[in-house]
Amino acid sequence: MRRITHWIGGAAAPGGSGRQGEVFNPATGEVSARVDLAGPADVDAAVAAAAAAFPAWRDTSLVKRAQILFRFRELSHAHRDEMAALISAEHGKVRSDALGEVTRGLEVVEFACGIPHLLKGGFSENVSTSVDSFSIRQPLGVAAGITPFNFPAMVPMWMHPIAIACGNTFVLKPSERDPSASLLMASLWKQAGLPDGVFNVVQGDKAAVDRLLEHPDVRAVSFVGSTPIARYVYETGTRHGKRVQALGGAKNHMLVLPDADLDLVADAAVNAGFGSAGERCMAISVVLAVDPVGDELVAKIVERMSGLTIGPGDDPDADMGPLVTEAHRDKVASYLDAALAEGAKLVVDGRETPIKGGATAARTPGFWLGPTLIDHVTPGSAVHRDEIFGPVLSVIRVPSYEEGLRIINGTEYGNGTAVFTNDGGAARRFQNEVEVGMIGINVPIPVPMAFYSFGGWKASLFGDTHVHGTEGVHFYTRGKVVTSRWLDPSHGGVNLGFPTSD
Ligand code: NAD
Repeated sequence: MRRITHWIGGAAAPGGSGRQGEVFNPATGEVSARVDLAGPADVDAAVAAAAAAFPAWRDTSLVKRAQILFRFRELSHAHRDEMAALISAEHGKVRSDALGEVTRGLEVVEFACGIPHLLKGGFSENVSTSVDSFSIRQPLGVAAGITPFNFPAMVPMWMHPIAIACGNTFVLKPSERDPSASLLMASLWKQAGLPDGVFNVVQGDKAAVDRLLEHPDVRAVSFVGSTPIARYVYETGTRHGKRVQALGGAKNHMLVLPDADLDLVADAAVNAGFGSAGERCMAISVVLAVDPVGDELVAKIVERMSGLTIGPGDDPDADMGPLVTEAHRDKVASYLDAALAEGAKLVVDGRETPIKGGATAARTPGFWLGPTLIDHVTPGSAVHRDEIFGPVLSVIRVPSYEEGLRIINGTEYGNGTAVFTNDGGAARRFQNEVEVGMIGINVPIPVPMAFYSFGGWKASLFGDTHVHGTEGVHFYTRGKVVTSRWLDPSHGGVNLGFPTSD
């Protein structure tokens, strides 16, 4: 059985805790590897390696750091197929989707290659007579990243390229469900010339997270995952004096106004609802159909769903793969019965979907559930309220724009949303009034590019800094303002007054 280890100080490091977890092939349900689960001593070793590497790395010139980032970008690009295959094998998503996440992660590396420009400070000459002021931003020390299963390459790449470019050293704690991509990234950093100890990986679960959150040498924590854990990480990390950004779960609505192009809307709803089996924090899980478009739109969505091929991630014909674990599949499937009990209509039942090379989803080994469509969902019901995080698309009929907006703003989460309309004025009103961090206008999955920052509102983000883009640079650095005067004999003399700019 393949063993997946930690990566500490530039080399693979078997764990010492004696605990391991199982990694599955979700398409078959079989165990494909065992992953070491760190105990406190493993975490301490990784943080010690990162702390030891920090002084030399922070003093490495900006140009040299950028050159290593460029090499990491080239190597990651050259190994993108290998990375996608690792992701697909452990997560279950189809290869093309896995390649897409590697591409979006690489865009953050490309952004971070511009670090010499991004870290330019400000300079003011003569703020007082013969006195100059300038601002600089400096790295924090050891930063930690704790990441979810659904993007095992992209979400870590939201964090470590920028943290490292800024001069920090890094400890990544990836999801224990799909840990292999992290080790490929570690080996590519090493090949790119990154000094040992600057990038480390500890595999693990709550025990590893808890040690990172209390470790005195960890200065900053970036977390992405579900809302209850994001809240816990934020509260625990900040209580231990750390800077924390903790991104949580989501429930993303698509508001369809009556003037929208319903073919475009139906394509978008299917793509954003079922891509990656709905296991995306920016997936659309609720369509708010403003009267009278509901019936026509549902028919168009059903038509497109019937053309989807569901199969293993390594099958080039598959549009959608399995869910990540059996427990998660069962939890997602439980919402189908809940929907019926709540009076909704199960239009397409994903348990009956044929799986390529198998039987129906419910009768095929592996963690399968086909695309599911639920119509006439009641606002505030469990199916509407909870983050299901699977291939389940709900439709709520609403009488007006105002009612649709009220439903979106009444939900706990505020990660992403989209409006579909041909009315620029309505779209502009929506972008202004909706209480959500990332808005799409005729774009169903509005994931910001690397040079903007990613983050939601409300229970979708704890902390005040979004990830990557200039907010990422801000998060991984702290500011200094220097006020300097080079001695001029004419300015001598004692003066106890408060300094002012004269
Ligand atoms: P999760 O919260 O279960 O796990 C995330 C990380 O926290 C993992 O590394 C895990 O090992 C760790 N963890 C789990 N339980 C813990 C505990 N009790 N104490 C400490 N650490 C713990 O999330 P997941 O199931 O891996 O990922 C799916 C979730 O992530 C969804 O809710 C999704 O919306 C969210 N997500 C959000 C974003 C975003 O940008 N807002 C992006 C991707 C995923």
